[in-house]
Amino acid sequence: MSTTETKSMKELVQEKWNKRPLIISGPCSAETEEQVMETATRLAATGRVDMLRAGIWKPRTRPGSFEGIGTKGLPWLQKARQITGLPTTVEVATGKQVEDALHFDVDVLWIGARTTVNPFSVQDVADALRGVDIPVLIKNPINPDLELWTGAVERVAKAGVSQIGLIHRGFSSYGNTEYRNAPMWHLAIEMKRRNPGMMLINDPSHICGRRDILLDVAQKAIDLDFDGLMIESHIDPDKAWSDAKQQVTPEKLAEMLSAIVWRKEDTSSEAYHAALEKLRQQINHLDDELMQILSQRMKIAEKIGQYKKDNDITILQTNRWNEILERAFNKGEKLGLSREFVTKYFDAVHMESISHQNKIMNS
Ligand code: PEP
Ligand code: MN
Repeated sequence: MSTTETKSMKELVQEKWNKRPLIISGPCSAETEEQVMETATRLAATGRVDMLRAGIWKPRTRPGSFEGIGTKGLPWLQKARQITGLPTTVEVATGKQVEDALHFDVDVLWIGARTTVNPFSVQDVADALRGVDIPVLIKNPINPDLELWTGAVERVAKAGVSQIGLIHRGFSSYGNTEYRNAPMWHLAIEMKRRNPGMMLINDPSHICGRRDILLDVAQKAIDLDFDGLMIESHIDPDKAWSDAKQQVTPEKLAEMLSAIVWRKEDTSSEAYHAALEKLRQQINHLDDELMQILSQRMKIAEKIGQYKKDNDITILQTNRWNEILERAFNKGEKLGLSREFVTKYFDAVHMESISHQNKIMNS
C-alpha cells in the first residue's frame, strides 16, 4: 500500500473511531478466505457498518472446539480491508498476536473478556503496544469486577495508547438462563461514570448468546446512551464454526440496525427541557420521601432489635422474612413492580435492617 493510501486509511479510522453510533460487525471467527471476503463485501454493501471484526485467535472456554484459524487468516482481513475500505479489528491476547496483527495492517485491536481478567496477559499485550499508537477496545472481564476492567484500561493507557474504548459484553454467572452473559447494565453505567468521555459500546451478541433477543438488548444499550454496537455476523450463521446461535447475516444485521430507534442524549428544545426538569423535581421529592420512610423503618427495626435483645432472641427469623417477601410480591404485583425489583429492594432493606438491629444487640 502506498504512503498516501496508508495515510488516508488512518484518517478514515479516526473518522470511524469518532463516529456515533460506531457500528462494528463481522464473524465471530475468520474461517476461510471466501467467508471473510463475502462477509466483508455484504457488510459494506449495507452501508451501515463502520468496521469489520473477526476473531483470528479464539479463546474457547472448553478445549476441543474451533480455536481460531490463527495468523493464516490475517492476510484475508487485509484483503477484505483493501477491497471494501472497511477498517479491521481483531482480538489480541498476547504480545505476539499484537505484532502479527500490526504486521497485517489491523486498524483497531480489542482485548477479550477472558484476557481482561488476567493482569499478566493484559500487561503482555500492553508491553507490545508501547510506542504504537493504535486504538484499543477493552471488553469487560467475564466476572463482574470493575477493578479488573479499570486495571486493564490503566495498563494499556500506561503503555502510551491514547485511544481506548470500552466494550460491554455482559458477565458470566452460574446458571444463566435468559442471557449467555448477564448484562448487569449498572456495571457498564458505573464504568462510564468513572471514565467520562471514553467510548463505551455494547456487544449484544455475547450478552444474548442467541439471535432472537439481539434487537432488544441493542435497543436497550442505545436507550442507555451507549456509543455504538459490536454485533457478530456470518454469511451462513447456522454453519458458523463458533457462536453459531448468536450470529446473523449481514442483511439481517442491516434490518436490525434500521429497526433500532436511535436516541440522542440531549436536545436543545426548551419545552423538552422544561418538562423534563419538572418531572425530575417530582422524582427528587419522591426520593426524599422514600429516604424519610426508610429511615423511619430502620428506627422501628432498632426498636425490634431492642425487644429481641431484652428477650434473648436471634435477629433473624426466617419465617418472618418469607412472610415479608410474600406480602411484598403480592402488593408489588398489584402496583406494577417486578418480582426481580421487589426482591432486590427488600434484600437491600433487609440487610440494612439487620445491621441496625445488630448495632442495638451489640450496644
Ligand atoms: C468474541 O468477540 O468473539 C469473543 C470471544 O468475545 P468475548 O471476549 O466477549 O467472550
Ligand atoms: Mn464470538
